[in-house]
Amino acid sequence: MGIVRTIALIVLGISFFVFVLFFGRLPALRRTPIATLHKWVFLHIPHGLVALDEVVTGRRLTRSLARFIDYMIHDRHPTIVIFFLSLLVGGEYLYLPSAWPMMSTWHRVAGAIVILLPYVFLYLSVMADPGYITPENHAYYMSLYPYDYSIFHPGQECRTCGFLKPPRSKHCSICKRCVARLDHHCIFINGCVGYGNHRWFVLLLLSTAFLTAYGALLGFSLLSNLITSRYPDWSLWPPRNMDITRYLLIWSWGLQDNVNMGAVSLLAALTSPLVWGLLVYTVWLIYCGTTTNESLKWSDLRDDMDDGLVFKRRMSPDRPRDTRLESTWTRWPLDAQQVLVRTDDGMPPGPGGPGEGAWDRVWNIRGVENLYDMGFWDNLMDVFVRDYSFGASREQPAVENDTRRRKAPKTSRF
Ligand SMILES: [Zn+2]
Ligand SMILES: [Zn+2]
Repeated sequence: MGIVRTIALIVLGISFFVFVLFFGRLPALRRTPIATLHKWVFLHIPHGLVALDEVVTGRRLTRSLARFIDYMIHDRHPTIVIFFLSLLVGGEYLYLPSAWPMMSTWHRVAGAIVILLPYVFLYLSVMADPGYITPENHAYYMSLYPYDYSIFHPGQECRTCGFLKPPRSKHCSICKRCVARLDHHCIFINGCVGYGNHRWFVLLLLSTAFLTAYGALLGFSLLSNLITSRYPDWSLWPPRNMDITRYLLIWSWGLQDNVNMGAVSLLAALTSPLVWGLLVYTVWLIYCGTTTNESLKWSDLRDDMDDGLVFKRRMSPDRPRDTRLESTWTRWPLDAQQVLVRTDDGMPPGPGGPGEGAWDRVWNIRGVENLYDMGFWDNLMDVFVRDYSFGASREQPAVENDTRRRKAPKTSRF
């Protein structure tokens, strides 16, 4: 049991660390132990170690370490992609020679598909253009979405790329380019997840989630079959006919007898919740009609609302547009009907600027609309179908009974 337990503990430790790394800064987990742990691991403990190094080596060690971490974090390099690929290849190399001869034809066919798909979607996620914005395609990306006048205001220029930032885009400091509807920069694909490859990324998560769950369940059921052929009174779940010590002893015999398949099944079982968690989070963001980047912006806005610094007023969709700052036409069937402004002093903004009427102070995120939320199905189509046509477009006259127009825009769901 020694080696299996060591592997399990290492994998559990790494999974937990990765979980804290990924989820620790999520707005949804703010004020939870995960966020506190994130602060300790990435703030308090490093500060303590720097202070110690100051005394011991005069900060020589931290300076060279900082250079290394800076390279690892702020430059593009395929380290994590290689790590991810080695885990896949290595796991399958250890697992399949024991498992394959015991698998039924049905499981062989299903297994081959489940094994193949993560490679296909990893390749597509890495190779597809995430939506890098260039002077040539700038006008196209300006016409995908309208500015919502809440988290994306017209007239913001990217100083590095030298053009107006299209709505929902963001400059990625690692790729050093602006990316259309940027979700986040992902180290597992060594690139950004954006308008161009979001669908491949979701499918990569889905196929990896299935691979880990399938690998774990199949591995444990094959092991269980092997064990019961030797110990017929043993059963995987629930433990029957014997006390827990004997149950575990027989388990450890089974694992040691098939240590490769056992270790990989355990690895799959322990990493599976992490992958499923990432998948559920990604789908939840799509359900809300937002991206990781935008959820951080909303979260900042929510904090400002708590402090009474955010104001809102009406805006007519038929307002005159400054065509130098925003596209006259977008593919999106809706247009902003509110202006959201944050002030530094908590006083309402002056009478000028976009929008009309009096400014209302906003205390709650639920009182504002999210222009980019069209309902789960349309949001999903927007991720999966390039240039998805929503039917109604702004230049067509509004139909009296157009349900879509009555349905949206939705108030914020988060
Ligand atoms: Zn840029
Ligand atoms: Zn990037």
